[in-house]
This record gives sequence, structure tokens and C-alpha cells, in this order.
Amino acid sequence: GKVLVSGANGFVATWVVKSFLDAGFSVRGTVRSAEKGQHLETVFGLFGDKFELIIVPDITATGAFDEAVKGVDAIAHTASPFHFAANDPAELSEPAVNGTVEMLESARKYGRNVKRIVINSSAVAMLTAKDEPLDEYDWNNGAVQAVTENGAVAGNFDKYSNSKVLAERSAWEFFDKYKNEIGWDIVALNPPLTLGPVIHEVPSPAELNTSTQMMFNAFTTEGSKTGGGHWVNVKDVGHAHLLAITTELPPYVPLSAANKAEGKNVNRILGGYRFAWQDMLDAAPAEATYYQKGRPGIIASRPRHMDPRRAQEVLAIKFTSIQDTVRETLADYEVKGWVK
Ligand code: NDP
Repeated sequence: GKVLVSGANGFVATWVVKSFLDAGFSVRGTVRSAEKGQHLETVFGLFGDKFELIIVPDITATGAFDEAVKGVDAIAHTASPFHFAANDPAELSEPAVNGTVEMLESARKYGRNVKRIVINSSAVAMLTAKDEPLDEYDWNNGAVQAVTENGAVAGNFDKYSNSKVLAERSAWEFFDKYKNEIGWDIVALNPPLTLGPVIHEVPSPAELNTSTQMMFNAFTTEGSKTGGGHWVNVKDVGHAHLLAITTELPPYVPLSAANKAEGKNVNRILGGYRFAWQDMLDAAPAEATYYQKGRPGIIASRPRHMDPRRAQEVLAIKFTSIQDTVRETLADYEVKGWVK
């Protein structure tokens, strides 16, 4: 089979591409320019014509993915901005929402062979203030409200979270509207902060993507390490995309309060662990001496747990440990000559 991966040059996407190629799939990746594809041609060159690129200069343009979806059996949509430097919230939400809708619209019109579309959403689309573990029916309505009320002066985390809520909602709404006339279904993957080695093009640590930049900073700069969030290994996310496409899943269940009350499973899959940055430092191997040690064992806050049952039960994902993830990440810094 052949899988389309949008935003193929991104941190997460390169691992998604790799997991499909390793499993024997052909992959067509979208990038915004030929230049952005060059590094990928090198990384995945050994897969020969099983890996190809298509240029989609603007994912929000009408018909953006019309050519890209032709002849593919499944789609992993990952292209979406992740940064904390937007002034206008629309800088994030427009490409997030319109990129998603254009992908689905192109698949509806031209994706004759498409059986499933995996939307790379985010755990931030689910974060709530409740005391119980996060679950698949949760929505981060707080971020949407904050952006609606405060616009450009809303917090950066809320602006990003808002973009992920709106993008994922638009996907479910699209599916609800067209489900009787399309030959595919949708799975949303909602990973938390995604960490691990990088195989996309990163000439220097300053050019790391947002999540791996946070990890690099935690290990190489002074400052408080007591706060945290939720995390997952990027290889597990790549693997989750493969499993989300190759696993037979239960039929579609809308994300409604009634379905939640009945305990029905939705195909929106979350997973990962909670952490404080100090946990990452404490998990480093003793022989790596160059990194910050913080104050071992001093943790001010870890967030609420996420409920990873669906990921484990339905996709049979086994999450990589913090020790292995930190070891792999530090080894990557060493290979790249970023630390000594
Ligand atoms: P990267 O910044 O490494 O990759 C983002 C990808 O999206 C790149 O291919 C980028 O293309 C593309 N992209 C960004 N903005 C636009 C735009 N306006 N128009 C077209 N393409 C665009 O980030 P990640 O790999 O971390 O993120 C990938 C996806 O995973 C995103 O949807 C993100 O929300 C999600 N995610 C990430 C997590 C993480 O911790 N990293 C956690 C949970 C979800 P270009 O290089 O041309 O800018």
C-alpha cells in the first residue's frame, strides 16, 4: 500500500514516514518546496522509489492536496504549525484548520483508494482542569475560550492549543457531514509533548522544533526544572500512525456526551506519561556529564495522568520508557556534536 504523509519534513512526520517505509509501505510525502525535501531524499534514499515527494506550496489553498491524494490507500496528516511565537492566533489556527479541511476535501473528491485518514492532533486539544485523568472525550474548551476572549493577547500555549482543538474538531465535523458518501474513516492521534532523536533537517540546536528545543534547553541551560507536562517518544508516535492505519478499529462513534456516558470508545487515541523536567534530568545515564542536573528529585508539579488504555488496548502500543528516551536523545546530541 501507499501512504500520504503531509508535512513530511517535520520532526514527527519523518518518524511517521520511517515507520511506514520500515513496514514495507510506499510513502508519498508533501513538503512546501523542493528545497525542504532535499534532506529527506538523503535520509530515505535507501528505500528507492518507495519514497517520493510532492510539493504542496500552500496547504490552505483550495484543492491543495488534489494531486497528492491520488492513488494513496491511507493518509497521515501532520502538517500544522507548532510554535509559541504567534501574535495573531490565526497564524496557527488558519493553517491548522484549513490544512486539515483541504486534506479531507481532496480525499473526498480524489482519494478513491483511501481507506483511513489519521489526523495528528495533540493532547493539548484535550487538556482540561478536571481532577480525573484526561480521556478521549475531553476537549480543551478553555483554550478556545481564552483565544476568543483575548485574541492576540491570549497566552501562547492557549493559542497553539486553540489551533489544535479547532483543527481536530473540523476533521470530526467534516467526517460527520460526509460519512455516508466517502470510503474512509478517521482516527485522531493526540500525543503529548513528543521527544526523542531527530532525523529531520536540524543544522543547529537553535533550529530544533518546539518540543525537542524544550528538551535540549532542559539539559543544557540553567533554570527551574520542577514544572512539566505529558510526554511520549517520537518513535512511538511514528509507530502509532502505522498501527492506526493497519489495525481494524471499531466503527465510528461521535464524540458526544451521551456516548461518553455509555462508555463507548471513540477512535481518538491518546497516550504518554506525565513528567516534570527534573524527571528527565534524573533519568539521564550517570556517564553523561555535560548536561544540567537540576536538583535531583525536586518536583514542584506534574500534571494529571492521561488515560492511555485505548492506545494500549486498541493499538497495542508499548510506550518507550523515560530512561530509554533520554538515553537516545542525549546520544543524538552527542552524534550531532551539540554537546561535549
Ligand atoms: P515541526 O515544526 O517539526 O513540523 C511541522 C510540519 O508542519 C513541517 O512539515 C512544516 O513545514 C509544516 N507546517 C507548519 N506550518 C505550516 C504552514 N503554515 N503551512 C504548511 N505547512 C506547515 O513540528 P512537529 O513535528 O512537532 O509537529 C508536527 C505535528 O505534530 C503538528 O500537527 C503538531 O501540532 C503535532 N504535535 C506535535 C507535538 C510535539 O510535541 N512535537 C505533540 C503533539 C502534536 P515547514 O517545514 O515547511 O514549515
